[in-house]
Parts: sequence; C-alpha cells; structure tokens
Amino acid sequence: MAAYTPMIQQYLKIKAEYKDAFLFFRLGDFYEMFFEDAINASQVLEITLTSRDGGSEERIPMCGVPHHSAAGYIEQLIDKGYKVAICEQTEDPKQAKGVVRREVVQLITPGTVMDGKAIEEKENNYIASVTVSDARIGLALTDLTTGENLTAFIPTFHDLLNEIYSVGAKEIVISENFSKEWEKQLKDRCQVTFSYEEETKITSEFSILIEEIKDECLQQTVARLIHYLKRTQKRSLDHLQAVQLYELDETLKIDFFSKKNLELTETIRAKGKKGSLIWLLDETKTAMGARLLKQWIDKPLVSEKKIEERLNMVETFIGHYFEREDFRTLLKEVYDLERLAGRVAFGNVNARDLNQLKKSLEQVPEIKELIESLNSDYSKSIAKRLDPCEELTSILGQAIVEEPPLTIKEGNIIKDGYSGKLDEYRYISRNGKQWIAELEQQERQKTGIKSLKIGYNRVFGYYIEVTRANLHLLAEGQYERKQTLTNAERFVTPDLKEKESLILEAEEKIVGLEYDLFVELREKVKTFIPRLQELAKLLSELDVLQCFATVSEKRHYTKPSFSKAGELFIKDGRHPVVEKVMDAQEYVPNDCTMSEYRNILLITGPNMSGKSTYMRQIALTAILAQIGCFVPAEEASLPIFDQIFTRIGAADDLISGQSTFMVEMLEAKNAIVHATGRSLILFDEIGRGTSTYDGMALAQAMIEYIHEHIGAKTLFSTHYHELTVLEAELKTLKNVHVQAIEEHGKVVFLHKIEEGAADKSYGIHVAELAELPDVLIARAKEILDHFESESKKETPVTEVVKETKEPEAQLSFFTEEPVKQKASQPSKKEQAILEQLKSINLLEMTPLDAMNELYQLQKKLK
Ligand code: ADP
Repeated sequence: MAAYTPMIQQYLKIKAEYKDAFLFFRLGDFYEMFFEDAINASQVLEITLTSRDGGSEERIPMCGVPHHSAAGYIEQLIDKGYKVAICEQTEDPKQAKGVVRREVVQLITPGTVMDGKAIEEKENNYIASVTVSDARIGLALTDLTTGENLTAFIPTFHDLLNEIYSVGAKEIVISENFSKEWEKQLKDRCQVTFSYEEETKITSEFSILIEEIKDECLQQTVARLIHYLKRTQKRSLDHLQAVQLYELDETLKIDFFSKKNLELTETIRAKGKKGSLIWLLDETKTAMGARLLKQWIDKPLVSEKKIEERLNMVETFIGHYFEREDFRTLLKEVYDLERLAGRVAFGNVNARDLNQLKKSLEQVPEIKELIESLNSDYSKSIAKRLDPCEELTSILGQAIVEEPPLTIKEGNIIKDGYSGKLDEYRYISRNGKQWIAELEQQERQKTGIKSLKIGYNRVFGYYIEVTRANLHLLAEGQYERKQTLTNAERFVTPDLKEKESLILEAEEKIVGLEYDLFVELREKVKTFIPRLQELAKLLSELDVLQCFATVSEKRHYTKPSFSKAGELFIKDGRHPVVEKVMDAQEYVPNDCTMSEYRNILLITGPNMSGKSTYMRQIALTAILAQIGCFVPAEEASLPIFDQIFTRIGAADDLISGQSTFMVEMLEAKNAIVHATGRSLILFDEIGRGTSTYDGMALAQAMIEYIHEHIGAKTLFSTHYHELTVLEAELKTLKNVHVQAIEEHGKVVFLHKIEEGAADKSYGIHVAELAELPDVLIARAKEILDHFESESKKETPVTEVVKETKEPEAQLSFFTEEPVKQKASQPSKKEQAILEQLKSINLLEMTPLDAMNELYQLQKKLK
C-alpha cells in the first residue's frame, strides 16, 4: 500500500490527539476536514463532500469551509454538542521547508465557547467537573465567559442530576474511571457533552483560586476543570475568579421535575421563555442582571436574614420611584462587564468594546451617588463598594478615538496626543500628504496643465497623471514614465519618490504602532479585571433588585413576612403568570390558610375550575418570596420552605423512555422519599394514569403516608370524591374545593376556593362545554343518574373509611362486588360496562370517537 503524503501524515498525527473533535485543518484560506470527520461534517453542516489524493490507493474523503466564514459552521457544530479543534499553520508557508508546521491552537467545546450563537446573553454557560472520592461527589463549575468559579459537595447522584440540570451545564469533565451508568444517565437527562481529564493537582499558577477551599476532593475537582481549560484553550485564563464554595442546603431545593412543572425558566409545552416565571420577572436592564436573575430563580434562599435583606432593598426601591427610574436609565448604558473581562483575558476585545467599557464606567459615579441617596443600610453598604475605576476610565478616554473600527489591525484606533511616537509618524504622514497637494498645484502652474493631478495606487504608489493631449507640455528629462493608460500617462519625479517612501513608511509604522499600543492598553485593562468583576457583581445585584421592585409595583405585589411556626397564610393570592396573561381584572384571587392543624389540603372541584392554577400559585408565591421578591397577594405570611416537590401535568418523558404513569410515580416517589416537615408538596390528580381502584388506592396511601410520616405542607387535588371522607380520619387534612355553579343546566366556573368538599364532578358539564353530541351527553346523564342512585344504596362512606386498615373492605365500598341477590343490581357484565363508561376520558376524545365508544358499549349491553 502506498504511503500517505507528508501532509496527510501530519493531519493523522494531530487528529490522533483530538479523536472526539472535528479537526479544522488549515490549508491556505480553508479549514479542511478529512476521512470520517469529512463524511460526518458534510452531513451535519450540509456541505459538499469531495475527495483528494493523499498518496494512498484510494482517494481521501474531504470537505472544507472558508476560514473567513468558519465561525458560523463552528457554532452549528458546538450547538449540536460537538467539539471543534482549530488547527492553524504556525509558520509562514513561504519560509517553510517541507510541510508547513501546524498546531491546534484551541479546542472549542460546548462548555468553553466564548462567543457566537451558542452563548446566550442572558444565561451563564457553565462547564462542570465531577470527582467521586470515598463515596463523596465533588462538583466544580466554571463559566469561562465570566470567569465565575463554584464548587460544592453533592450528597447523592440524584442531587447531581438536579444540579447539572438546574445550572444548565453544557459539558462535564470527568475521569475515564467515572461510572458509565452515571455518565449515561447524565447524558440522557441533561444532554451534556463529556470530556476527560486525569490531572487533579492544582498548579502554582492557579493555587490562589482555591485558597479558601480546604477539602481535598473539591480541590481535585476544581483542578481537573482548570487543567482541562488550560489544556484546551491554550491561552490566558487571567479572568478566572476565586472559587466559591456553596452548599445545597443553603438554598431551596426544587428538583428538575418540579422546576419543569412549575415553568420557572421555560414552559413545558413550547419550551420557550414566554409564559414562564422568568419571562414575567425579567425587568433587568443589563445582561449581567438577567443572568443573575436566572441564578436566583434557580436557587431561592433559605436564610431568612438574606431574604429579608433583599426584600428590604426591594422595598427601598419601591419607595423611591424617581431614583429607580434614573437608575434604570443609567443601567441601560452599562455594558456586560463580566463577559468583557473574560474577553479581555482571552485577548479578543476590540477598540469598540473598550469604548463601551469606558461608557459603562462613566455611569458608575452617578449610580454610586444615587444608590447612596436611597438611605438604607444595605444601599449605603453597596454604594460604598461601587468602584468607578476612574484611572481606567481616564486612560481609555485618552487612548481611544470616539468611533474606532471593528478591526484592531488597520489603525485609526488611538487618539492624537496619546503617544509621542505615533504623533510623530502621523505628522510625517499628514505633512507628506499636504506636501503632495501643494506639489500638484506647483506642477500645474509650472506646466500650465490644468488637468494634471497627483494620485496613488497600491502597485505604483504616487504618480503624476497627464492626459495624452497635454504630454507635449512636460519638460523633457524631468519626468520618469511609470504607466501608460489609454488616454493618459503616469510619471514620477525623484522628489515625489522620496516623499512617497517617507509617507508610506510612516503609514506602515502608524498601523503597527497603533496595534502595539492597543495590545498594551488591553494588558493594562487586564490588571483591572478583578475590580471590574466585583463591580459587575454589585451592579447585577442592584439590577435584579430594581427589577423585583419594578415588577412588584407594576403588578401590585406585597411584601411577604415569614412565620416561625411554619404557618402559611395568603390573602387574595394570585397566579403571577396567569394573572398577567389574562388581564388582572378577570383573575379571581384566592386565600390559602395552612396552620399546624391544616397541613394537607385536599382539593376537589370540576376539571378546568382552577385546581392546578391554585396549587401552582402557592408554590410560585413561596418561590418569589424566597428569591426576595414581593408576592402576588394582598397579604402573605409564609414558612421558609426547604424543598418544593410537584407532581403536576402529564408530560411524557420521552427522552428517558418512561411512560406518563411511570414519570408520575417517579415524581411522587421523589417527594415522598425526600420531603421533610418543612417542605411543600403539590400533587395534582395523582393516580389518574391507571385504573380507578389502583389510582385511588395509591392516592389514599400517599396522603396517609404524608400525614403520618412527613408532615409537609401538601396540596392534593383529586377527582376521586371518595377521598374527601379522609377528613374525618386524618387530623391535619382539610377539604377545600373550587366552586362551580350550574346556571340553566350549564356549569359556570367561579374559580373560587371554598372550604369543604365539592358536591359533584361536573365531568358531563365539561363534556358539554367541549360540545360533544347532545345525544351522547343526554345518555351520559342518564347513565350517571342510574349509577348515582345505585351507589346510594351502598355502604355509607364513613364506615368504609373506618375500615381502611382492611384493604379488601375498602374496595368493597366501590361496588366491585355487587350484591348478587338484589334483582335491581347490575349484573357483572353490566357492572363491567359501567366501569368502562366511567373510565372514559371524554375530554381527550373527538366527538366521533365518543360516539363509537358509546355504540360499542350499547352493543355489549344488548
Ligand atoms: P383544573 O386544574 O381544575 O383542571 P386549571 O387550574 O388548569 O384547572 O385551570 C383552568 C383554567 O381556568 C386556567 O387555564 C385559567 O384560564 C382559568 N383559571 C384558573 N384559576 C383561575 C382564577 N383564579 N381566576 C381566573 N381564571 C382562572
């Protein structure tokens, strides 16, 4: 077999080190890919697959992208979770002996990408690393765009899944020995990319970052991540901030099922922001603020002191409307300082960025004064820490022109007066040009040729142009012919040549010097990175707090208080998002009282009456309070919850291949296993996904379990009316219902929560609203009447509940075993048909399906 050409051999050698990445191999003006990479990339990027001779018998598959438009292709690959290794020519091809030297200069991955589409302005882009040591799980997180570093111990793998999902990490760096089962679950659940790094000893360069971290497992986890970043990014990481240790139980835990269900940052159906809590809340003015808002929503607080600190500042902002509005206007001019600091360290800022930095810093003195004037302890302490970095503002002001170009390599960046050397070159260049303008005048006078002009082009430099008709007017021997055009000739003179070389030399020097001065300036900005990061933190915090104040005032929210005894009392509470969407006047506010003696509310009421809206509104109110925002209610006194669990809605978990019912049970289990007496549980229609008896039995057992063993505040909505009798048995369970009335035979939902159990289900009324055929509805009513009259003949409800210790006895209540002797009782066959009828979910059927179903049932009866 023939050997590969030296270049392909070079390619293969480099590729061997980057097996899990697309290798973008620089060849002239293109990045080329070969072999498998070419085949895969041509499919993913939809670009043409070609081939080339590489010395072997078969041609080598190849595809490529022009280097100037590579960014878009790289983004597409990163967005799909791939990695891209950028391999550049690292010597001048003209100087190269043999194959041009090439090296990978950066590995771009989903967790390390610094710009482009993959980076959401309003979201952090975290890369994680995980280390398991002595059965303990260490987690480290870095956002390379902002330099933020975090680390924490994670108690269980379940918590790790939650945490990775919740922070939205895109990539996880682990050891090759990491559990394959965990890796699979993380991949399935959180769609992350995996990378491997074995080095876990911190180098001296970075040891300062982990000074505060004493635990060895965490130190190793951080070190693994930093080594990976250093190895792949191959550039300065000066913007990395000291690692902050956090603990999961310092925040309100909401697992990923519940976060999804409560639609905190995206909606379940559309998977977009619109309709989520963050959509409602985001009145931030800076991208940094928006990112912090998301972090706060992801991690509500549990420390009353910290919550009160935020709430008080929100209150202060509400009380100072004009100052707040001025502050919002000033914030509009504040650029993303955090990401800018990252780009400064990475070496990819331009002069416009630095001008925006200057503009941002110019706002700080006024912001400082304004925050100081708010006159609260908290605002004063923040104001004191706001650092306008005046030296930096002044250097930038002196150095950079008002409207610099995007590129930093073509000059026109630096102001006159900033550098003596630059001024000198500019003097030569400008003077030279002046001299040329004067020469043009002199030559016209000397020769009498009015149309004579002096021009410039890249090939011939400066020239004197004379039209053909005037050539005879030129003195012999003084002008050297350079170029002949159709109608004119171009000449140079020794004087012109001399000036030209001075001007050109000066211009070349100007461009070079401007670039050097810019890089020097960038290095100077680098030294301000820690101060800029601190400033960014304070400004983003203030931004989120003004955002809370703005929303709270606009939507008439109220400041919550916290009850020591764990009581929950909400007067006229509203669902923040539904209220916004539907128009505040239409929304029916509801109270909620849960004291020591009312831990479980069993909520009954027709479908569509507002049960799940009510439950969600309680959870969202608790979350809003614990992130430090006012709440949608007239009055609210709340416990500080440690965890919130929900089982709401019926979203199939297709990714992990689990059925609706399995998801329902997993979510329920999660709550039952992890909830404590300080938690909030929302169970919406548990047991719906299985047969009636099955479902009801499970629902009752869960309620009893929560009552006996957990004592969490629980809202339990159900369509099993039979469960309402539990009130008599379980001390802290109370029935409430959503009121509905019948008007002219039609159901009207009042959306009002009342004490006690609902009188009936109104299922048929809802079917009527859904406009099922009249005959069908009439027949359903007939069947229901019959069914109800029969059921009245059964054992009284309370007696059954008393017998709950005997499961068989309980089931007998639900007429599973009809009393055979009674002639009026339906036969077993009829009973089965009735059961079938009962379990029909009319709301999920088309009218035609319903007719068919009824027809089949009738046929069985005949
Ligand atoms: P359920 O859980 O009882 O089936 P939902 O909570 O899904 O009912 O509510 C159904 C619809 O009723 C909601 O989409 C909303 O439009 C409306 N709704 C619910 N609660 C209220 C309320 N308090 N005020 C006004 N409309 C409401």
